[in-house]
Parts: sequence; structure tokens; C-alpha cells
Amino acid sequence: MSNEVTTNANSATATYDAVIVGAGFAGMYMLHKMRGLGMTARVFDAAKGVGGTWYWNRYPGARCDVMSHDYSFSFDDELQQEWEWSEKYATQPEILRYANHVADRYELWPDMQFETRIASAAFDDDANRWSVLTDQGEVISAQHVVMATGTLSAAKEPDLPGCETFAGETYMTSKWPHEGVDFTGKTVGIIGTGSSAIQSIPIIAEQAAHLTVFQRTPNFSLPAGNCPTEVAFITDLKKRYPSYRQEAKESFFGVPVEVTEECALEAKQSERNAKYQAGWDTGSLVGVLGAYADLLFDKEANDTAAEFVREKVRATVNDPELAELLCPDDYPFGTKRPCLDTGYYETFNSEDVRLVDLRKTPLVSMDGAGISTTDEHFDFDVVVYATGFDAMTGAVTRVDISGVGGKKLVDEWVGGPQNYLGLCVAGFPNFYVVTGPGSPSVLSNMMVSIEQHVEWISDLMEYMRDNDKSTIDPTPDAQEEWVRHVAEAGDSTLYPLANSWYMGANVPGKPRVFLPYIGGCGPYRETCDEIAADGYRGFALA
Ligand code: FAD
Ligand code: NAP
Repeated sequence: MSNEVTTNANSATATYDAVIVGAGFAGMYMLHKMRGLGMTARVFDAAKGVGGTWYWNRYPGARCDVMSHDYSFSFDDELQQEWEWSEKYATQPEILRYANHVADRYELWPDMQFETRIASAAFDDDANRWSVLTDQGEVISAQHVVMATGTLSAAKEPDLPGCETFAGETYMTSKWPHEGVDFTGKTVGIIGTGSSAIQSIPIIAEQAAHLTVFQRTPNFSLPAGNCPTEVAFITDLKKRYPSYRQEAKESFFGVPVEVTEECALEAKQSERNAKYQAGWDTGSLVGVLGAYADLLFDKEANDTAAEFVREKVRATVNDPELAELLCPDDYPFGTKRPCLDTGYYETFNSEDVRLVDLRKTPLVSMDGAGISTTDEHFDFDVVVYATGFDAMTGAVTRVDISGVGGKKLVDEWVGGPQNYLGLCVAGFPNFYVVTGPGSPSVLSNMMVSIEQHVEWISDLMEYMRDNDKSTIDPTPDAQEEWVRHVAEAGDSTLYPLANSWYMGANVPGKPRVFLPYIGGCGPYRETCDEIAADGYRGFALA
């Protein structure tokens, strides 16, 4: 623990045990854990408040797609007993209220600094400490740097030629104005058909005079079946939270669901469809995808589920040609993140909603009046970008990070992220990425993965303190082996068949690498715990 704490971060050099970058759920929990160890930390966020994802993504219809009670902290029984979620899938304002409640409850505010972006972090080999620089010119010295910067926080900025000349209003779903947007009577264009678009399109369409949806790749979307929280269900769940949370931790996706070993191709079509229907009716991401064990591994098996979902689209959209355009047909179901929606496909039955297939008529440019495709020009009052993120690596590589000998993280990661356990990078001692690439992260209920990483990192910090160690650094061999293992695990699945953000394919020039680890939350946790129990095998502690 440092004994030279400067609580006023505006002084020349403030000194902490750790700098935590990001005040989302990961950053807040990290701070809470470090305080519990009697260690000092300061959290920095570019936002004006806590909540990360839920601070920024305020677009209409934004809500979680993991059930609210699963998408919440489990580390304190009092917290989970006292908090009441009002809906099966909580809205963004409710999740943001929860984030603020966490900050209030654990009195985190004094150690968090907002409207401050971390610009760079450099490891000083002589002092064995990080020197961290903010965009306000503050310098902070810290033993540890925790990147709680989020996997889906570095937005892809609009890059359509001429976009800056558009005279109407423009909004990004990932940076939505706090005061909201009134689309009433307006002609609106939206680019993208990922989860953010699929959640917002039905609501924008309701308000706008006309909505044009520019779709490059159709997505698989399932109805959320959202509803108010069932009192009897939640009362019962609260009584058995300990075992329920344990099950979530040991599960594959961080959500307790029945695991099947049955294979889709071994079942008759009628049995399969009955099972898919039952999964569909749960209104969850894992309902259909979890129906058979081979859906993410065998293309023929996957086709049966994909076709089931496509049939649902055809049954919902009145115009058969339009329905076909909305049906994904060039990647397996589940290999781009599926979406949960409320009335998405139904929206296209409105005469005031038009779908433009960018695969037939790509976007060309924007001008003062609107958007041009190869075929047509569209005039708009408002353009909404729902174009996603430089996922998993973007928020880390946008900070200028240099490790031992001044080597740059961006250079080390030029061919794809290199790290050990998805947590630490060789040559960058005492540097941690929460839910980083190479960990289950975005393939899981993120709350479970955030808690696991934060607890593992804080256990490590405690171990180092108690064993008089000042640095920890993965060995290059352990890192190489882990990166190989993550790639092999990914290659054993169908995920590489999709041009998804999981593969880095949504960002021009980004290396095509399957970014998360598909080993499953439970098994991955066991691996991390075993490595810690074995004296942090694969790490050099000095
Ligand atoms: P974030 O919440 O992303 O917070 C990171 C913070 O770091 C941000 O506030 C950012 O401003 C800050 N930051 C980054 N770089 C810097 C820097 N250099 N300097 C200062 N500050 C910086 N996951 C699920 O499991 N279930 C869901 O239902 C779900 N829904 C989602 C919906 C949306 C719209 C999006 C975008 C993501 C969703 N996710 C969901 C993933 C979600 O990101 C995680 O669940 C979780 O909120 C991540 O928390 P975090 O603290 O790790 O990161
Ligand atoms: P996304 O899934 O990456 O979707 C971006 C969309 O924009 C895609 O349809 C993409 O097309 C399109 N696009 C991007 N650049 C384009 C361009 N230059 N020209 C034309 N189209 C372009 O992003 P997102 O919707 O923000 O979601 C990201 C992730 O955040 C989700 O997968 C999910 O994990 C999480 N999320 C969750 C929820 C929830 O339900 N709780 C809501 C929102 C987000 P291509 O597919 O062809 O690239």
C-alpha cells in the first residue's frame, strides 16, 4: 500500500496504489474491492457520471438483453436483496439508476473523477510504477493500472464521405443526448441493424413521419417477451440467491440454464422445432441457441435453428420479398450476436418504414440534404448512426500505453490482442484489462465476468502486498500458449464464419481474430483460480 496518498488529484503528481480507468460496473466494483483491502485507487472516466455503457447509450428502447436479476451484482447479499428491478429486461434509465445506487451505497464518489480521459500510461522500469497522464494534464503515479474501459465503449465514428456536410440533425446511439430526441413529424434515416438499431427502430418508427433503415447485414432477432417483474418469481429467487449465483458462476454463459448434450441432427425435425419453439418462448438469447449442444459447432445443425428463426421472420413480415431481405442467410445463427427485440420485424409492416438493402445498393456519400446510395438519394431531417464499436480492443488501444523498455501496446497488438488469460499483457507489468479479449467477456452475462475478473485482480493485489512483490508480468511463453489456446477454441466453432465484431470484421483494417474466449465462464474461472492457487503460474513476480 502506498503511504504517499494525495487526495487532490489536481496537484502535480498524485500517487495511488491503482489508477482505474472507467466508472462503469467494472471500475466501480474494482474501487470497492481495493478499498476493502485498505488500498488506494482513483477512478477516471470521460463521462460526467457513472454507469459506462448505460451512461452513454441512452437511445430510445435501450435495455439489457440478459434478464435484469442476472444482469446485476451478486457480491453483496444486502444489495441484491434490497434492489427491485421493475421489468424482465430493465431499461437504460433503470440500469443507470442502479449504477448510481451502487456508487451511493458504497460511497464511491470521492474517489472517482469525471470528464477526465486517460490519455497515456507509461511504465517506469526504474520505479516499477506507472505514470498515467490525463487529458487535463494531470500526472498520476500508480503501482497498478486497471483498464475497466469496457468492451463496447469505443464508438465507431461516422466515416461516410461528406457526412460532416449534412445540415440536419445527427445522433449516434452510443452517444445519445441526455435530453432525448423528439422525432415527431421528421423524416429519419438510420444506418445499421445491430442490437442498438433493432431496439431503437420500433420506437423511432412510431414517432417519425417516415423512417428509412439502411441495412448492410440482416441480424437474427428474437422477441424479448418483456414484461413487469413477476413478484412471486423474484420473491422465491431472493431466497435462493446464493445457490443461483453459484450456478451462474459455474455456467457456460454466466446465466444458469439447463445444459443439454443432445445434438440437433440426432432429433427428428418435429422434435427439433418443438424444442426451438420452447426456447423461442422463453424470450431469451440462449433459448433457441441452447436447445442443442452442437448449434455453435456444426453448420448443418445450426442451419436447422437458423431456418426456424427465418420462418418466424417470414411469418411476421407481410411482404415476402422484404421478409427475405430481413432474413440472414450468409452466416450461422448466433455467430453475430443475436438480438432481443420488441416489435422489430412488425415495424416493417408499416407503410412509413422502408428498408434499403446496402448489399444491393451500397452507401456512397452524404451531402447537406441526406444520404446517397449507388441507386438513389434520400433526403432526411435526422440521421441516426447505429454503427457499433471498435469492440474489445478499441478502448484499450485508444490510450497510449507503453510498457517495459517503452514498447507500445498498439505495436504488440498489431496482429491481434496478445495477453495471458485475457487479463494481463507480457511486458506491461501490473496492467490489467477487465473482461479483455481472450476472456469469456462478451460471450457471457457481463456482470458475472466483471465480478470474476475484479475479484481475481484484487486477490492478486492482496497476494502481492502480503508477499512483498512489487510487479507481476506474464511470461511470453504463457502468453503465447494462451493466445494459441483462445484461437484454437474459436476455430473449433462456427464463429469465424461471420463478419462480426467478435472477429474484428466491422472495423476496416482490424486484424481478423476471434476476440473473446469461448471456453465458457465456469471452466475459465476454474483455470484462473488454479493458476492463482499454483502461485500465479505463468507469471513472473518480482
Ligand atoms: P463500460 O460500461 O463500457 O464502461 C467503461 C467506461 O470507461 C466508460 O464510461 C468510458 O467512458 C470509460 N473510458 C474508456 N476509456 C477511457 C479513457 N481512456 N479515459 C477515461 N474513461 C474511459 N452486456 C450484458 O451482459 N448484457 C446486456 O444486456 C448488455 N447490454 C448492452 C447494451 C448496450 C447498448 C451495450 C453497448 C453493451 C451492452 N452490454 C451488455 C455490454 C456492456 O458493455 C457490459 O454489460 C457492461 O456494462 C460493461 O461494463 P464495464 O464497466 O466493463 O464497461
Ligand atoms: P453492431 O452490432 O456492431 O451493429 C452495427 C450495425 O451497423 C451493423 O448492422 C453494421 O453492419 C452496421 N454498420 C456499421 N458500419 C457501417 C457502415 N459503414 N455502413 C453500413 N452499415 C454499417 O453495433 P450495436 O448495435 O451498437 O451493438 C453492439 C453490441 O452491443 C451488441 O452486439 C451487443 O453485444 C451490445 N448491445 C446490446 C444491446 C442489448 O440488447 N442489451 C443493445 C445494444 C448493444 P454489418 O453487420 O454489416 O457490419
